[in-house]
This record gives sequence, C-alpha cells and structure tokens, in this order.
Amino acid sequence: MDMRILNLTDENLELAARVLRSGGLIGLPTETVYGLAADAANDAAIARIYQAKGRPKFNPLIAHVSDIEMALQEGIFSREALALVDKHWPGPLTVVVKVAPTGTVSDLARAGLDSVALRIPAHAIPIFLVREFGGPLVAPSANPSGKISPTTLQHVLDDMGDHIDLIFNGGTCAAGIESTIIDARGERPALLRPGSLDPDWIEETWPDLIRPELNPEAPQSPGQLLRHYAPNATLRLNAEAAEPGEAYLGFGEGPATLNLSERGNLEEAAKNLFSMLRALDADYERIAIAPIPNVGIGEGINDRLTRAAK
Ligand code: AMP
Ligand code: MG
Repeated sequence: MDMRILNLTDENLELAARVLRSGGLIGLPTETVYGLAADAANDAAIARIYQAKGRPKFNPLIAHVSDIEMALQEGIFSREALALVDKHWPGPLTVVVKVAPTGTVSDLARAGLDSVALRIPAHAIPIFLVREFGGPLVAPSANPSGKISPTTLQHVLDDMGDHIDLIFNGGTCAAGIESTIIDARGERPALLRPGSLDPDWIEETWPDLIRPELNPEAPQSPGQLLRHYAPNATLRLNAEAAEPGEAYLGFGEGPATLNLSERGNLEEAAKNLFSMLRALDADYERIAIAPIPNVGIGEGINDRLTRAAK
C-alpha cells in the first residue's frame, strides 16, 4: 500500500482530518506510545481498529480530546475528577467517568459500557489533530493486541503498516509506557492501570487512591487481566544475572546485554522498555530481566513485565 509519512504541517493536519472523516485509520505519536487513531464516533472506523489490532471487542478504547470543554461534552466529572485532570492534563493520565448525555464516543468504542475513558495527551500532533478534526479520536496503541507497544515510527511501520493510510512522524516517544488509568466515578479515585504518571501524584489533588494490590475487591478494568506486551521470547523476571543462553536486560550498574537505565532511573527505563524488549526478542529466545523497584512509575513498568511474562 502507498503509505504516507507526514510531518506536522497545516496541510497534513487537513489531509489527516479528511482521512479520519472518511473512516480511515491514522498512525500518530503521543508522549506515551504510538497510537492507531480513528473517529471515536464512527462505528465502522472503530470496527476497523478492533480488526486491525485483533483486539477483543470487550476491551474498550481510550478517547483523546484536545481540551477540557470537549472532555465535559463526553463525560460527567465530579469536582474532584475535574481538579485531578486540571492538574495533570495534558499528560499521561486517563480518567474513566460516566458517559454524558451529549457524549459522542460510539458504543463499540466503549464496549457497550456506560462509562468512557478520556485523556488529553501531552503531544502537539494528537492535540492539533483532534482540534482540526473537531471531535474525540480513539487511539489505542498501534500494535497487534497482546504484543509489545510501539515507541518509534519504525515499530508502527513494522506492525501496522498494512492497516494505516497515513502516519505522523514524532520520533521516539518521551514516556514510553501507556497512561495511568484512574476510575474517577466514585467518591475515591481507583487505580485501574499503573502507567507513566506516578500514581502517588494523584493523591496530591485527590487523596485515598484505591490500589488493587491493597484491595483485591477493587474494581478491575476490562482488558487489564489479559496477557499483554508479550514478546516471542520467554521472560524470567527479577533475575540478578543471566543464565547460559539468556539475554540480560539490566537496570542499574553491572553487565547486561542491554540496560534499561545504567543510572537506575525509572523514567529512562520506561522510555527504553518496549524498544529494548523488541530488540532482544529479535535475537534471543530467553530474556532475563533485572528487578525493577516497584515505586512510582516502576509500578507501571512491573505491570507491563508481569503481563508480558504470563
Ligand atoms: P489500551 O488501549 O490498551 O491502552 O487500553 C485501554 C484500557 O482502558 C482498556 O483496556 C480498559 O482497561 C480501560 N478503559 C477504556 N475505556 C474504559 C471504560 N469505558 N471503562 C473502564 N475502563 C476503560
Ligand atoms: Mg495497547
């Protein structure tokens, strides 16, 4: 297919918005990972997304908005939920709220739920594209469901090249793992998925975050129990060193085939995680991975690793 790689220009935004209006799929960078974007209100386009990703239809999609006004059109926010997004948007925070009567995100994108997941990404390309398009865009990661998420243009071309009409080039994604998802419907916020916003920061505006590990009865989000982020290689987690035949993905000082962060920095490790897993997966059948501290965004990294190793 004749696939076009675009830079951020007015002309290209107009072109991409036209493709989206006709039900097409667009690859685009965000600060977390590359997304596969479509008109959130168009059932046929949404069906193409589920099909292109091989994603189960019970696993709802996040809708990306460009401003708080658009978010308020789509969802019902409590005062606390609004304070939370006001503090962290644009940024890698997704909130699940009740669908507003004026909401436009399709039933299929919400997997038939009466809730909707919303975020304003901290990246110029999706923000300008949502504005140019004039409504929310769903943008799940641009990879086959269950596989490693893409953090570079080349990853998307390798995984989804046959399914997209256009892709915006945004280099390497700054954060490297997906957004933190908070259920903002209740009196207390609940962590549905750890991600690249440190969950501790939530409590600065809205205390008493419900964390699943502290409360096994806590609500689980659809799609969060699946094996995911999975390479072809076998993973061995919390490994202090490689065994014969294994590649070693390190964290902190010491010998390693590749190192997520020699200086032991979690942000750097998150940014490198998916690229390094892909690189090792291409050359090795067994990958041992160093222990990652389970604090801050380390929780998000360990969530990905645990699900990749299932
Ligand atoms: P992904 O596209 O893989 O980043 O996953 C998005 C995740 O957001 C889904 O797997 C759900 O766990 C969560 N999510 C999206 N929409 C909703 C919703 N309406 N209600 C609850 N959780 C949601
Ligand atoms: Mg994904």
